[in-house]
Parts: sequence; C-alpha cells; structure tokens
Amino acid sequence: ARQQRIRNFSIIAHIDHGKSTLADRILETTRSLPEREMKDQMLDAMDLERERGITIKLNSVHLKYTHTDGEEYTFHLIDTPGHVDFSYEVSRSLAACEGALLIVDASQGIEAQTLANVYLAVDNDLEIIPVINKVDLPSAEPEKIKQEIEDVIGIDASEAVYASAKSGLGTDEILSQIVEKIPAPTGDPEDPLQALIFDSLYDTYRGVIAYIRVKEGTIRPGEKIRMMQTGKEFEVSEVGVFTPKPVVSDELTVGDVGFMIASIKNVSDSRVGDTITHAHKPAENPLPGYKTMNPMVFCGMHPIDSSDYNALRDALERLELNDSSLQYEAESSQALGFGFRCGFLGLLHMEILQERIEREYGIGLITTAPSVVYNVYLTDGEVLEIDNPSNMPDQQKVDTVEEPFVKATIMVPNDFVGAVMEICQKKRGEFIDMQYMDENRVNIVYNLPLTEIVYDFFDQLKSNTKGYASFDYEFIGYRESNLVKMDILLNGEIVDALSVIVHRDSAYERGKSIVEKLKDLIPRQQFEVPVQATIGNNVIARSNIKAMRKNVLSKCYGGDVTRKRKLLEKQKEGKRRMKSVGKVDVPQEAFMSVLRMD
Ligand code: GDP
Ligand code: MG
Repeated sequence: ARQQRIRNFSIIAHIDHGKSTLADRILETTRSLPEREMKDQMLDAMDLERERGITIKLNSVHLKYTHTDGEEYTFHLIDTPGHVDFSYEVSRSLAACEGALLIVDASQGIEAQTLANVYLAVDNDLEIIPVINKVDLPSAEPEKIKQEIEDVIGIDASEAVYASAKSGLGTDEILSQIVEKIPAPTGDPEDPLQALIFDSLYDTYRGVIAYIRVKEGTIRPGEKIRMMQTGKEFEVSEVGVFTPKPVVSDELTVGDVGFMIASIKNVSDSRVGDTITHAHKPAENPLPGYKTMNPMVFCGMHPIDSSDYNALRDALERLELNDSSLQYEAESSQALGFGFRCGFLGLLHMEILQERIEREYGIGLITTAPSVVYNVYLTDGEVLEIDNPSNMPDQQKVDTVEEPFVKATIMVPNDFVGAVMEICQKKRGEFIDMQYMDENRVNIVYNLPLTEIVYDFFDQLKSNTKGYASFDYEFIGYRESNLVKMDILLNGEIVDALSVIVHRDSAYERGKSIVEKLKDLIPRQQFEVPVQATIGNNVIARSNIKAMRKNVLSKCYGGDVTRKRKLLEKQKEGKRRMKSVGKVDVPQEAFMSVLRMD
C-alpha cells in the first residue's frame, strides 16, 4: 500500500553543522525543484533566517524518491531549528515524524545542542540515522566522531553515513537509509480522523493555514471538522502538500504531512498541538499535545511614536499566530508610555521578534532590558509572579524572593575548562559534573540562575573560549536568593523602565556600572542631570551628566551648508530612537545598558 512507502523525518543538528545544506542536497537529488527555482538554503524562507544563517520556523517539504528496489517513496522532510531558544519547535516537529537524521560536523564533533536535540528525538521514539558531515574538510576526523556518537549519545553509529553536504557525497546513501531504517507510519485510513496541528500560518487572503500530520483517518475538502481542544467547527476548503510550493490534493491520509485551509479567521481557533477530527464521526481522544513552553524572558516593547500603539498590537497578534511561544499583554510605563510586556523563550527569540516588528511592520521600538520571572513571597502571605522589575513591591513588604535556575551544559576543549569554571563561579553557579568526551574535549555541567545567563553569559563564554564553547540549558526550578530591586533616577525621578532586580552581593558593582554607562549614553541636555542608583532609600551610586555647552550648529560658523545639513540630519537620526523621560531625552541604548557589564 501507499502508506508503506511513506517516510517522515526531521534533520537535527547543532547550528552550522550543515542541516540546511544537506536539506538542499536532498531536495536537489529528489529533483523536487526545477534547477532554476533552486536557491541556496531553500528551507530557510524568511529573510531574517537567511541573513542570520539560522533556521527559525520549521517547514515541511513533500518529496518523491525512487529507491533501488524500484518503488517510488514519498518523503516528508520536516525542518527543525537548531538554536537552544527553539527546542519547543524542535519537539513539535519531531512529534510529526518517525525518524531523524542526526548530523554531526566531522571536524567539530558533538556539541551542546546536538545532544539536547537528539535526546528530544529519543524521547519521541524516533529512529535515528547518524550522518557525519563535512568529511571533505582537511580537519575532518570521521572515525573519531563515529566513536564519539556511540560513547556520548549511546546509539549505534556503525552504519553512520560519511557525507559532504557541500559536494553531495553520501546523499544517495542517506536517502536509501531513510527508506530502509525509518518505519512507515502506522494508522488506519478508515478510522476516525486524528490530525495533529504542528504549526500554523496566517495568510491575509485565506486565513489560517494549518500544518498537519494525519495520524489516523483521512481528511478531504468539503468535510466538516472539529478542533478537539476548542470544540470549534469548520468546513475544509483545501488540503495539499508543500513541494515546497503549495500543491493542492484530493485528500490527506494516514502518514501524510501537509496543509489544511478551512476559512479559519481567528488565530486562536487553530492552536498548535490541537487535534483535528471529523464533526460527524469524531475520534474518542485527542492526540497527546505538546507541553506548553512558558516564556522565560520578558521585556517591555513600546512604540517610539505613541500613535503606533495599535499597529504594534496588530503586529504582535499576527506574529503570535506563527509563534505560539510568544506572549504579550498591554502595559503602561511612566517613562515609555503605552506598550506591551512580551514574553520569550530566550534572548535570540526576543531579538528576532524585535527585528521582525521593525522590519516587517515598520514600527520603531524602544525595548527595555529583559527580565526573568521572580516568585515573590510577601510578609502578609501573598505570592506574586513578577516579570517586570518595576512592579517589585517595597523591600519591607517582601519576605523572600525566588528566581529561576537552569542546568547548563557547556562543551569546550580542555584548555578552556579553567576559564569556563571561573565564569560560572562568578555567575553564582553551582558545579554539578565534568566529563571527558574524548582526550581533548570536556562536558561541564553547572546549575546557574537564569538571570545570569540573560545577563551577558553567552558573550563572556564566547569571548573567553575563543568561540569554541557550545552551550545549552534547561529550566530546573525556582530557588530562593538574596535579591533586591534597584531603581535608577534621572534628574531626581525614578525611571520605571530602568529598574532591575539584582543579587545583593553584586548590587554596588552593578549600580556603579549602570550609572557610569548612562552618563556616557545620555546626551547632554540644557541643564545638568544627576543619575542615581538606589536600593530602597539608599543611594548606592551617582554621577552627573553635564549641561550642554553650545548649540551644535555654532561649530559650523555659518559657512559650509552641506556640513550643516549633515549635522542636522545626524541630530535627527539620534532623535529617532530617543524617548523623553521627564525632561530628559533618553536613547534606546540606555534602556539596554542595565544589561551589560563593562
Ligand atoms: P545549519 O546551521 O546546520 O543549517 O548549517 P548550514 O547548512 O547553514 O551550513 C553551515 C556552513 O557549513 C555553511 O557555510 C555551509 O556552506 C558549510 N557546509 C555545510 N556542509 C558542508 C560540507 O559538507 N563541507 C564543507 N566544507 N562545508 C559545509
Ligand atoms: Mg540552517
């Protein structure tokens, strides 16, 4: 039967190990695209992904492959993001597969995210096919990496494919192992429908486009369907597959991966993780959904131009549809006016969203420094969850504060063990374990406060290990810590958007550094502006921004017109990302300055 000739798989890899390049080779070899439509890195659809060279959204592609047994097979290749922030999307896409290609760079070996992603695949009971990529590099050591896969991950790598995604070496072997090793989907096309929504997109003309994997039954246009979580019913208008262009088909049945359109106008009616069934012959139970990932990092996003508020709300609403891990709610700040408090999986996730809002929706933003979520126990017994430092109640009302901790896995060459441990100790880390992966590389495990990771951990790690460290973390729970709120005052007034929660032991040092940075970042005003850092009523650091001396234009002596214009333009440019706080103009960088150490 056709079902016996379906293979659904993902590619998992650490960033830069060659996932996108291999996906391109697979597309090419299966001739899914005419030559002229082939662009490099076909699966990385968004501009941002191309520019940053990372994969953010998962995509699915329908391929035809003729095996050496003469039979034609249908493959669905489901792409997964490699970055630590997006492990949620990795698990979503893995739930739609029976197998995964595990790519390891032959010159780098296993890295932190390889491990994290492969464990997700093992948890999902996927068949794993190891691929050792970049064997064309002079520094490639495929035999050693093969051993490493067996030792560190603990799976059989004896039939690992040696590949060069760059040259195409090994691609045929990979395709043939996909047929031979990955099981065909199980399920019955006649059973009540169960289709998993693993992603969805909003299209202005057609409404919601749901990416689905059919586990049981068959779905056809014209049928009445029901979303099992929400109970909402719709009529299917179209189903089809991505080749990667969308191609309409008569039906999607067991094992198929494709799209479904049902004039769903409301974002929340097509939830990722929900199960689609038929309204007249419903399945008894929904498929196991995903565990929802709670955002770990929050920041305020405010339009520079306050008349952009509604546009920003619309943008967030749209973006949320394609990114179920994004959260937001309206907030107002004395300093920044109306805006939104937004929650993200991690820092990269946050940066990408900011960039998309500015680029795709053309809205200029002021964003505040990211914060984790604190559990605050008050003396009167009340418990608060605080994701905005300025909402922290007065010190005398607070009994204890808990902060999120993560287990961090850091892989480095031997030479950097000392440097890594020093950073972790400084960041209030608790040493857990250290293991040699081979004679040169070490896996170091620490428990660390998440806030220290948000606060320039990654930058420090990279710069102190010449970029060799790879790093991944998972949330392990909340712990009590000695934390206090620090306020920043400009011209004698608290600027709520600059408040931070800090560990008491480093409060003085942080206060001094923030005040100094603000002094440099905030341009001189007509009058002298005092900058202070306070805890409760105590000033712990202070500085002054001197008053402006003369008009910018007075330097030009009225002569050179183009120079004058340039200066004025420069001034204007500077203004664009400024916000008036009280009487003081504060540039965007100032709001992020509380984050950086030096
Ligand atoms: P991804 O982050 O896992 O998607 O990695 P990419 O596919 O974007 O590849 C990262 C870099 O490695 C790119 O510069 C590729 O050109 C390069 N690359 C990928 N595969 C090979 C290979 O087999 N050999 C060599 N020498 N370079 C490769
Ligand atoms: Mg990629």
